Order: sequence, then structure tokens, then C-alpha cells
Amino acid sequence: MDSTYDPQKIEAKWQARWAEQKLFESDVDPARKKYYVLEMLPYPSGDIHMGHVRNYTIGDALARYKWMRGFNVIHPIGWDAFGLPAENAAIKNQRHPSEFTFNHIDRMKGQLKRLGVSYDWRREIATCTPEYYRWNQWFFIRMFERGLAYRKKSRVNWCPSCATVLANEQVVNGCCWRHEETPVEEREIEQWFWKITAYAERLLEDMKELVQWPERVLSMQQNWIGKSVGAEIDFRVNEIEEPLRIFTTRVDTIFGCTAVYVAPDHPIVQKLISFSEDPEKLRRKADRVKASAIHARVEVGLEKQGVDTGFSARNPYNGENVPIWIANFVLSGYGTGAVMAVPAHDERDFEFSTTYGLPIRPVIAPVGAGHAPPKDSAVISVPSEAFVEYGILFNSGEYTGLTSEESIERMTRDAEARGFGKGTVQYRIKDWGISRQRYWGTPIPIVYCDSCGMVPVRDQDLPVILPPDVKLTGQGQSPLASVPDFVNTRCPNCGGRARRETDTMDTFVDSSWYFYRYTSPHFSTAPIDNEAVKYWFPVDQYIGGIEHAILHLIYMRFFTKVMQDIGLVNFSEPVARLFTQGMVIKDGAKMSKSKGNVVDPKEMFAKYGADTVRLYTLFAAPPARDFDWSDSGIEGATRFLNRAYRLVAKHASTFPLGIADHPKDSRRPRWDLGQLSSEERRLIRKTHQTLRHVTEDLEGRWHFNTDVAMAMELVNDLSEMEESIEAGKVRPEILKNSLEYLVLMLSLFVPHMADELWEGLGYSEPTLRAAWPAFDPEYAAEDELEIPVQVNGKLRGRIRVSVSVSEDEIRERAQAEEKVAQAINGRQVVKIIVVPKKLVNIVVK
Ligand SMILES: [Zn+2]
Ligand SMILES: [Zn+2]
Repeated sequence: MDSTYDPQKIEAKWQARWAEQKLFESDVDPARKKYYVLEMLPYPSGDIHMGHVRNYTIGDALARYKWMRGFNVIHPIGWDAFGLPAENAAIKNQRHPSEFTFNHIDRMKGQLKRLGVSYDWRREIATCTPEYYRWNQWFFIRMFERGLAYRKKSRVNWCPSCATVLANEQVVNGCCWRHEETPVEEREIEQWFWKITAYAERLLEDMKELVQWPERVLSMQQNWIGKSVGAEIDFRVNEIEEPLRIFTTRVDTIFGCTAVYVAPDHPIVQKLISFSEDPEKLRRKADRVKASAIHARVEVGLEKQGVDTGFSARNPYNGENVPIWIANFVLSGYGTGAVMAVPAHDERDFEFSTTYGLPIRPVIAPVGAGHAPPKDSAVISVPSEAFVEYGILFNSGEYTGLTSEESIERMTRDAEARGFGKGTVQYRIKDWGISRQRYWGTPIPIVYCDSCGMVPVRDQDLPVILPPDVKLTGQGQSPLASVPDFVNTRCPNCGGRARRETDTMDTFVDSSWYFYRYTSPHFSTAPIDNEAVKYWFPVDQYIGGIEHAILHLIYMRFFTKVMQDIGLVNFSEPVARLFTQGMVIKDGAKMSKSKGNVVDPKEMFAKYGADTVRLYTLFAAPPARDFDWSDSGIEGATRFLNRAYRLVAKHASTFPLGIADHPKDSRRPRWDLGQLSSEERRLIRKTHQTLRHVTEDLEGRWHFNTDVAMAMELVNDLSEMEESIEAGKVRPEILKNSLEYLVLMLSLFVPHMADELWEGLGYSEPTLRAAWPAFDPEYAAEDELEIPVQVNGKLRGRIRVSVSVSEDEIRERAQAEEKVAQAINGRQVVKIIVVPKKLVNIVVK
């Protein structure tokens, strides 16, 4: 082996050898324990970025560790290959999206191979191939059969200049991405939905199983699902003699209701306009509120706006009439699309009422010490802020004096008995709109027949192929509608003339089940091969960015539950453990072309080699945190690797043959500590301490930066001991053992260099095939211990003693310690309790 480190040469050599040896390929083997490592599949944007490098390097360290621990590891990768960027590029450059996509896949695949990640490339999938999307269509039909796929009118963003629907990403500052001066309008069109709301309760309930998911992700999902228990109450709209049903979680505050707010697209709005004295005026006002609500959907931060309709509704509890307002912050999809305003007990209502000068009437008082029990009173003092806690009711008729909890129960019961309302559970989550008026996606497998209506394509006729010849203009209706050969078809039911659905599916459909397909990527009779899934599932470790906490990570849980109901799988959660890594930033900001702060992995590979980039991304920060890229940091990483390489290479050639051969299992060499020189003891101790740290870390703590730091210290210690080693104070087998352990630990992070050194140490197989060594707690133990000393249970001092010290000596030394002696202060010692290696407690009278 070379005496100096040449990463380019070494990395090319080992990547070729790994491929030749099919090192990362694994197959179902019921005799062996499996481990499934999964990283989120990338969108083929053309080049991997540092965020990818970080994600895959973390996954790779874990996969390599598990291989060495004897697991049968599956570590796949694929491409989230449908989607808008390819279509946008096609509109601009008149190149077919598939050409654009597959070119990008080729390029990124080359870069991933250059990084040397341990992927089983036989399992690679691209979601834009008919072989894959055929099963999206199959799932769609199963959903349709179960009533989980349905059509309804819904709002879309519309550019009048393009005369087309825009995705949310194509709306920039409220305007079209191609027409920066054209404000986006809202249109209602029929779209396909999947009924994820039918699974809301199970999505919440099954979170109990996700004990190894980050708390933050679970609480984000919980908020997204947004379960609230409340009541629906009918207010009567006097002028049109119709009920208006509101939803509230705080019916106990209903005597403080001063208005009713409805969503701008609530059906009653049109009715009120038509009954209005000046319909045009009210329509104009309502449209303004509606427009502000649209902007609120695409932009963050919403200015609360509303308009008084001039109509009023009667509160069924006290018979009082309150005005009806149209408000932009009320969502038609949440509850009934109408809510009551109780400004005294709701922050948003308080703010709104203050802005518009509406009355504020408290009906709940705080409970507890210092608060007199409230009584009904005609004099109402207006509070300076909303009181939103539970409390005691007053000015609430027959309910005055009850607690919030009591009155919620009683008032709900009364509403049911008197027929003007009921108790209900609401979820914030909405059904998943999967229709896209786009080309580059999975065609929805439905045909429309004049006699039979909506008919799903038959399973044996799948896939419905995306036609290759489509002119993409970015204008007009769904691109597929302009391909007569695609649109015109026969009805699967009656054989008559029929039209195909021309919408395609949201790309989140593709990523909802791709990790199942990896286990049998070419299975042709079903989306998954049961045997393979039974063996490989669940995913043991999933790694990706926190930005996927909702959407993707909810959709894939939903999909698995549907698969369970269909009978495809027999479990309800696909991922046992989730890890969300932090971002790679530079100069305090997210890397982006416009800021000019992008560090290109390709350039770094060429300059330093992949191992240096890997080591640096792991060393710079704990994986869960963001890390700020620094040029001096990566220089430091390359210096360390050069030193470590030279150190091992220098000694490797000097060892006599046949000493300290690394065992195939995790047995460790047995040396009698008493027979070793102090240098040998020091080296063995440091080696096993490092090994203990790295092992425990890989088992769950995941502070890889500290593992690298420990390896650096071990290299430092070895360098400091050079003289002793040359003087023969360390036996070659002990030195070789330490170097071997160092190389095996480094192989998780810098596998190319580690394999080169491992070969130099005399092994013919790559490190991945070596057994992970077990640390020995006895070897890792310090020579000296620090033991705290208590007097009557109170910590008074500490003593440092040799590990082999006798109990008698500990007693003596403990009493002699200066602060302990002060605490004893001449009193009689009744008893001395020694907890070996842990604690001394001296009991005095
Ligand atoms: Zn436009
Ligand atoms: Zn038909």
C-alpha cells in the first residue's frame, strides 16, 4: 500500500471492487436477522446537494454498522421522478420531461456512486416508469371501490393569461410564475380526492406505536390532524327563516356570543346576498373578503378581514339576535364553516371585535383563591384581554354557577334534547386532493361513459400509459385532454364510446409506498411481494428532513392503513424509527443559487475525495442540528485523514504475519491487564473507550460528531506513543489490535480509506464483511476512579483512588479528605457505607 493518502485513487479502486463483489446486495434470508435502512428518495433535480450528502452519509454509517453486527441489511435508493420542475423545463425548452428526468437521474446516480454509499442498485426504482405507476393506478382503483376516492368541486389557482390551473408552487407573490403581472384568480373545478379524513382517528390512535419517532414530528402531525371535540349548534337566521349551524369547542361561552362568522364560500353567503336590500353592494364586499382569503392560502400571515352582512341570527340558548359577518379567517373545510364570536373568551375574536368595534361580553370567571364566585350582574366591565381558560359561568341563565366542564356537558345534552344541536368531533385535516391538471404524473385510471358514468379501468388493462407525444404549452386545460388517442376510449363496462380522465395524480402518491416496492422492485402481479414485505418490514430506520413531518409522513402512514384494510399487509405502521436530520447551511443561510453560497459536492469530491466530505459532514455538528459549512472545517477533516492514514500505513508493513487476526465473530483478544506495560494498558484502555462510545452511539444516541472526535483522540494518543512503540514498550499484537479497531470504527464514516488500510493490515475482504468488535468494560475502565463522599447523606467531598484499591483504604481516605473531616467535625462515626466504585457515606452521631 502507498505510504501517503491518495483519496482519488483509493476511492476509485474500492468503488470498483465493491461493485464487482456485489457487496451491498442482500436477499430475503429467513435464517438471518434483517435491518432496513431507508433514506427519503430524492427528486432528480440533476445534482446532489450537501443536504443529500448528509442524509445518505448518516444512513450509510448505520447500514455499515448493522452489516458488521451481522444483520442482513437492505439499503435501497430510487427516484421521485414525476413532478412539476421537469414539466416546467419542458414548457421552456421544448424537451420531453422524460429526457430531462432520465438525464438527471443518470447524473445524480453517478454522483451517489462517487460518494460510495452502500446501495443495492438492483433495487433502484424511478416512479415515472409504467412498471411503477401502474400500481399507483391499481391503488387508485382499490380506493375508488372502497369509496375512498371521490370527485368534488374545489378551488384552484387560475392564471387568466395561461388559461390554466397553477400549482401552489407556481403562484409567486400572488401572481403567475410566468406572468408576474397577472394576479392569480380562484376557480372551482371538479377534482379527485382521497378520503384521508376517514382515517383521522386511526392516524392519531396509532401514534402510540411510534415511540421511536421524534416528539416534534408527532406533535406536528397531531396539530395537522387537529382533532377537537365540540358541539354543533343551530342559530336561526331570522330574515330567511333558516338554520345556520355553527361549530364550537366552547359551548360554555355561548352566552357571551356577540356575532356569528361564516366562511366567504359558505353556501349561506349567496342566499344572504340574494335577500339583501342591495345585493350588488354586499356581493362586492363579500368578494373582497373572499379574495383576501385566497391570498391567505398561498401566503403566510393573514390580516383578519370581515364584513357585516346586515342579517342576524338567533342564539337558541338566550334568544338573542346577533349579527352575521363574513370573515376571511373562517375555513369552509373546518367544522361547519361557521363559528360563533365570543370576544371575551377567544383571542382571535377579541382582536377582531376590537378592530371592528364590536361588543365584548364576559361570561366565564376564573376559579380559585382570590376570585369571588361570580354572580349574574347587569353591569359588565369590558376586559382588556380575552380570558381563554376554563372557569365558572355567570350571566349565563340557568347555567350560571356551573364550571366550564359541567356546562359543556349539560348544554350539549340540552341542545340534543331540544333539537337545535348535537355533540360532535371535528378534525382539521382535509381530504387529500390528488388531482393535478398536469402532464408529468400518473394518469388517473377512470373513464367516463355516457351510459355507465364513472367506470374504473380493469386491473388487467393497467397501466394506463402516459402518452409520450404531448405538446406542452403551459396553457389551456390538462395537457392530456389535447391527445385524442388518449382521451377517446371504450367503456370497460358496456364497450361503448367513453372518455378518459385527463388529470394526473399528485406526486405525493408516488412517495407514499415506494419503500414497499424496493423489496420487490420488479414484481409483476401485485404492487408488493408479500414474502419480501413480511421479511423486510417494518423499515427499521427512516432518515430525512423535518420539512416532511406532515404531508409525506402522514400520507405514507395513511397508505399503509389502507393497505392493511385491503389485506396487503398485516401491520398498521410502516416505519419503526424516524430520524430527522438538520440542514447544511453556509454563512448562516440555507444554501441557494441566488445567495451564491452553494457548496457543490462534485467540486468537493474532486478536491478532497468523498471520504473527507463524509467525515466533515458528520463531524461538523450532531446530525439532528443544522450545520454551517466552513472551508477551514473541511481542511481540518482532510488533515486528520492524512494523519490517520500515514499512521496505520507506516505500522501495517512492520507486523509479523499471523498476529492478532481479527476474529469472524465479535470475540476479543484476552490480555491479562496485570501483565501489561503501562503504555500497553493506556493504549488498550483508549481503544476500548473509543469502541464503547462509538458502539453505544450507533445503537441510538446518534452524535456521530463525538464518535469522530473520539477517533481523532485515539489517533492523537497513538502519535504521542510513537517513541514508546519504537522502543518496544508496546507489543506488536497489541498495537495491531488497536489499529484494526480504529480502522473498523473509521469504516462507518470513511469506508474507502478504511478498506485500503484494512487490506494493508492483511485482510482480503472489505471491512463490511468483518465483525464489529465488542468492547470490554474491564479494558475500558479507568485506572483511577473519583468517588463522592457523603456525610449523613450529604455530599461533602470527593476522593481519587486506584481501581484496585481496597475497601479499608477507601474508608480511611474518605475520612481523611479535608472537607469531609470538617463536616464530621469530631463527631462519632457510627457506620461507613461503601458502594464499590460509586459512593461512600459516613454516618455520624
Ligand atoms: Zn400565467
Ligand atoms: Zn359504459
